[in-house]
Amino acid sequence: MASRRKFIKNTSLGSLGVIGSSLINTTCSAEESIIEDKKSEVNLTTKPIVISTWNNKKANAAAMAKLSSGGKAIDGVEAGVRVPEGDPFDRSVGYGGRPDRDGDVTLDACIMDEKGNCGAVCFLQHIKHPISVARRVMEKTPHVLLAGEGALAFALENGFKKENLLTEESRLEWEEWKVDSKYQPIINIENHDTIGMLAIDAKGDISGACTTSGLAYKMKGRVGDSPIIGAGLYIDNEVGGATATGMGEAVLRSVGSFLVVELMRQGMHPAEACKEAVMRIIRKQDFKEIQVGYIALNKKGEYGAFCIHEGFEYVVSTQEETVLKQSAFHVKAKKKKKTESDQ
Ligand code: ASP
Repeated sequence: MASRRKFIKNTSLGSLGVIGSSLINTTCSAEESIIEDKKSEVNLTTKPIVISTWNNKKANAAAMAKLSSGGKAIDGVEAGVRVPEGDPFDRSVGYGGRPDRDGDVTLDACIMDEKGNCGAVCFLQHIKHPISVARRVMEKTPHVLLAGEGALAFALENGFKKENLLTEESRLEWEEWKVDSKYQPIINIENHDTIGMLAIDAKGDISGACTTSGLAYKMKGRVGDSPIIGAGLYIDNEVGGATATGMGEAVLRSVGSFLVVELMRQGMHPAEACKEAVMRIIRKQDFKEIQVGYIALNKKGEYGAFCIHEGFEYVVSTQEETVLKQSAFHVKAKKKKKTESDQ
C-alpha cells in the first residue's frame, strides 16, 4: 500500500486540481499498454494462483499458505485479506482505516465462493475483520448483505469482539483534515486502497474477497462498491472472477466486476475485459479526477488488470513466486517536476 501513496506523491494526481487537459494529451494507447498483460498467462499446472489489488504481498502470502496446503480458494481469500484488515498502518482497510468525516471508521466487505454463495457487510463499525463477518453472513444467514447496527449485532452474536478501530495516527490525520473540512471525494487525493483478492485453488475452484474502509472522510452512511456483489467483486466459477478498487461510485454505476466477468464469458482475455470495463466508465463520465482499477482471473489461470490512471499495481502469486505488476492504464501520469525540496 505504501507504493500507492508514493504514486500519489510522485504524480500530478496527488495535487488538487492539477489534472487537466495536459494529462488527456498524454493518454497512452490502451492497446499498447495492454500488451504486457496479455503475455502474462499462467499455465494451469501452476495453480493455485492468488491475485490482489495494490502491493499486498503479505496478504497473498497468507492466502497462498492456505492454498498450498490444499485449502479451498474461499479460505485462502479470507485469510489473505485479513492481513491488511488487521494492520494498523494500512489506512484504507479495517483497523487503522481512515474514518468518515465524523471520525467514525466504517467498514465494507464482501466475499463470494465457487458455488455463487456470497455474503457482505456495509457501514459496519468496531469490528476488525469485516471479511469474516461477511463470510458468516454467507454461511449462517439466508441473506447476502447486512448493514450498520444489524451487521454489528450479528457480528457480536457470532463472537466477534467490539474494538476501537481509530488509531491515534489516523485520528491525528483526521483532526488535521478537519481544519479545512473540505469534503472532496477525489480519489488519489484522499487515499483509499481497497484490497480485492481472487484465488484459484488446487482443484481449480475460484473465490474472491474485497474489503475496505472506503473513501476517507466520506459522508456518514456512504457505502461504496466494495461490499456490493457485482460491483466490487464478482465470481462465476465457470468463467472467472473480477474485483475493483478506486472510486466506488463509478464502479457502482457500471456494475464493474460483473461486467468484467460477463466480458470474459464472451471470450475476452481478463486484461481486455478489465480494459473494456474501464472504458465504459471513461466513455460515460468525467474521469480526469478519478481512479478505478480492475483485476481479473479466468478459469484457465490467465489474469490481467486495467486502470484509468497510471500507477495502479497488483500482486500475482503462484507457489513458486510472487510478482508485483504495474497495471495497464488509459492515462499516463504526468511526471512531477523536480523542486528544490526534492534535491
Ligand atoms: N472502492 C472503495 C470505495 O469506493 C475505495 C477504494 O478502493 O479506493 O469505497
